[in-house]
Order: sequence, then structure tokens, then C-alpha cells
Amino acid sequence: MSEKNKLLTVDDALKLNRKEILDIYKNHVNQGRATLSALVGIDANFVKAEGCKVWDDAGNEYLDFVGGYGSLNLGHNHPAVLEALRKVDTVPVMLQSALAKFAAVLAYNLAQITPGDLQNCWFGSSGTEAVEAALKLARIYTGKKEFIYCLGGFHGKTMGSLSVTGKKKYQEPFEPLVPGCVPIPFGDPEALEKALKEHDAAAFIVEPILGEGGVITPPEGYFKEVRRLCSSYNTLLILDEIQTGFGRTGTLFACEQEGIVPDVMLLAKSLGGGVVPIGAYITTASIMKKAYGSSIDRSTMLTSTFGGNNRSAAAAIAAVDTIVRENLARQAAEKGPYFLNKLKVLQEKYSIIKEVRGRGLLVGMELAEGEGLLDFLSAGSFKKLSNEFLSSMIGGELQTNYGVLTLFTLNNPNVLRLEPPLNVTYEQLDFAVDAFDKLFSRHKSFLKIALQSGKSAIFSIFRK
Ligand code: PLP
Repeated sequence: MSEKNKLLTVDDALKLNRKEILDIYKNHVNQGRATLSALVGIDANFVKAEGCKVWDDAGNEYLDFVGGYGSLNLGHNHPAVLEALRKVDTVPVMLQSALAKFAAVLAYNLAQITPGDLQNCWFGSSGTEAVEAALKLARIYTGKKEFIYCLGGFHGKTMGSLSVTGKKKYQEPFEPLVPGCVPIPFGDPEALEKALKEHDAAAFIVEPILGEGGVITPPEGYFKEVRRLCSSYNTLLILDEIQTGFGRTGTLFACEQEGIVPDVMLLAKSLGGGVVPIGAYITTASIMKKAYGSSIDRSTMLTSTFGGNNRSAAAAIAAVDTIVRENLARQAAEKGPYFLNKLKVLQEKYSIIKEVRGRGLLVGMELAEGEGLLDFLSAGSFKKLSNEFLSSMIGGELQTNYGVLTLFTLNNPNVLRLEPPLNVTYEQLDFAVDAFDKLFSRHKSFLKIALQSGKSAIFSIFRK
């Protein structure tokens, strides 16, 4: 075999060090991501994970407050999920010549725990696929073509979900997107009513809280109005609970706190128990019946090779059961305010923290933007730097020197997400607060933090 054809094994992968991972990742996956990771120090080689804790190859312990962007409500490698996978390790993972029994059981269970009369599921392998499937459901059910979505909202990066993701940076390079997608501000029922009047919309797709938008909660009563308006215009309400679901915000699903039931609910992330990739929508029997009915012809429109395969579905059955049994929603409801209050004390203390906000254990820390003389001298670059990279640098510093993992939210990079597993302990929450306190007290000004963690990032941006 020539060098070109030499294949690396799983054992080789396990033995790679930090530098080797960086090089291979840079050359074969995503160069920009590798560069940013190396610059700000988020390129450790993690070799072990359990609950909220992860360890690197030097034996250093960290607390994971990224939480897989909401995929790790159960923490890393929960034994109940691993046990379920062991139980099915000789069952065919997929076999299209039979009905997927684990998917059927999972759908049955989801119907028991979701609100109202939601009962019929579709399964795929990711959040974005669940969004795609729900947009198609809305079109085939209503016969209408357009979609209304929220500025700052995030639903994924495949073509359809990107078309309803409210961030120009992600949309523009890929235009033309799906036609007839209408953006409106989040939290504004009048804007929704205007859009519903002007457009014949198949669906309004929205998150209960903008997660990637920077953890933005809606005004009181917003969703009651949303529900009323969607019903009166015969437009489906697709609620994206992919990040807010499974206890994250203090109830099993965030919509319970709004007192509404959507027509379609989207689920992914923690549905897989932090171990397997799985996404789903759940809708009512009447919507599913009118959309796809019992016709054999339409049944093949719903299939996906890996969607709802036995292994993923078995892990999801165990994940859902554990989330309910361990009452992770109540844990989030109790620990969230404790954590937020402690972070609010830090906000009082450090001007670099503009705001901390959230619900349950979906928490965002918005950082103050750079401005003033430095911004003037750098022709706006300082502000750009602070907006785009400050949170990465703080994340890098926290990771490297304080043992806490955090990352920015995708649609609002000035916000650090704090989404620990819901079974995080009070001591671990205190540890994270203490880490921020130590970091900010050592580096009072933004510039010091930036210099400490990313000198070359600053200079490369200033050169542009
Ligand atoms: N919807 C929401 C609310 C999300 O937060 C995300 C991912 O962050 C998605 C959809 C897309 O999910 P995935 O990354 O699994 O495609």
C-alpha cells in the first residue's frame, strides 16, 4: 500500500495526541475551526467522560457546561443508555424488511409524555432532518407553500432548515434558499399576525426560547397569542423543542410553561441520551392522517435509512425513561435559579458581563461589546473582534486554566452558553461560578483577556 492508501485504525485514532488531531482535522475536516480552536485553546484531547466531567489525555478534569448544545441533559455516557445499547447489541441495527419495533415503542412513549394529543412520530437522525420533515408535513397537510420564521431563530443547516434560520451569515452564501420563507421578529405577535395576513403560510416555525440566538426568552403571553393566531389562519405551529426539550428549561417541554400545545413538536439532541444521533417530530393523529393517510403510496414518502433504527431508538427509549424517572425537569427547575442568581452577583461585580439570563439550565451570559477609543483606532475591528471572538477567548481561558467548558451561541457569538447536564451537582455549579469569578477578577479588562488568550487572533483581524 502506498502512503496515500494507508488507513488509520480506531486504535490509531485513540493514540493520537493534540497536535496530530489538529493537523489531520485541519487537512481533512474544517481548517477554520481547527485554527480557531488552536488559537483560543479549545483543542484539548479528551479521552474520558462521565456525567458532567470529562478528562484530557494529561489526566486534567473539566466540567462540561457546553452540554452538547443541549444533547447531554443526562450527562456523558449515562449507564442506563449504555445498558440499553448492550441489550440490543445482537439485534439487527436496521432491517428494512421488518417494522422497526423499537421506533414503534419510542413513538408510543413519546405520545405518553408530550402534551395534548400529540401522538404520531417521524424519526430521522438529527435535528435538522426533523425540521425538514416537519416543513414537508406542513406543506402536504395544508397545501400551502410559505413558511414564517423568527429572526435570530436557529433550526439547522440543511437547505430547508437554513431557509428558516434567522441568521444572514449562514443563509447568504447558499442562496437561493427555499422560496417563500418570511422572517419576523421573535416575541412580537403583531408581526406574526401581519405576516399571516400577507402570506398563505403552511407553518410558523419557532423555538420556545431562542437557544442559538443567545438564550432569548419570549414576553409573557406570547405563545398563547401565537397559538391563537396560527389556529385562526389555518397555519401549523411547529415548535422546535430540539434544544429546550427533555427537562432543560424546568419542565419536560418548554411549551408546558406557556400553556400551549403545538401542532408539531420537534425533538432531537437529548432524545439520544447523549450517545446516539436521533431526531423526531411528533404531531397529532388527525394531521398525520390528512397529510399521509393510510395510503400505501404515501407511506414511502416518510422513510429514512437510519431514521428510527433499532439501536438509536433503544437508546432513546432508555434516555426518555431516565429523564422522566430521575425527574431531570425538576432538577433543572431547582438548580437553574440557584445558578442564575449566583451569576447575577457576578454581573453586578464585572462590567464585562452585560447580562445573564435564561430558564432552567438553559443559561446565557451576554458579554459587553468593545467600544470607545480602541474601536475608533481599529476602524471598528475592535468591536468586531469583541463581538465575534471575545466569548471564544473567554471560553478558551476557562477551559485551559479553570477547568470549565463553555462555548458561544451560534447566532449570537457574544453570548456564552451554560448548558450543563441537568444532573449537575450544586458543587459543580458553584465551581463554574467561581471559575468565572477568578477569571474576571484576574483579567479586569477585555483587552487583557484577549491578549492573554489570543494575541495572534487580534493581530490577524486588525490586519484585515
Ligand atoms: N433546532 C434547534 C433549536 C437547535 O438548537 C439545533 C441545533 O443546535 C437544531 C435545530 C439543529 O439540530 P442538528 O444540529 O442536530 O441538526
